[in-house]
Amino acid sequence: MALSPNAGKDKYLLEKHTGIIHYLKNETEECNILKVGPAYSSLTSSYEKAAEIVLLTYHTIPRACKYCCKE
Ligand SMILES: [Zn+2]
Repeated sequence: MALSPNAGKDKYLLEKHTGIIHYLKNETEECNILKVGPAYSSLTSSYEKAAEIVLLTYHTIPRACKYCCKE
């Protein structure tokens, strides 16, 4: 029933611990972004930027969320 406060924005959200990247414009309830919480996530303006942060800062393989990042 709940989407994150940033749902619908043209921004990407990365989960620091899992490396999962969400596209907020297509956010779905299945994304469970509210469970991740602001302390464990970060917003970026592009998928590439999010993937770079996941790789370089959190040393995790970036993965596109299957619910909101489908082409
Ligand atoms: Zn998602």
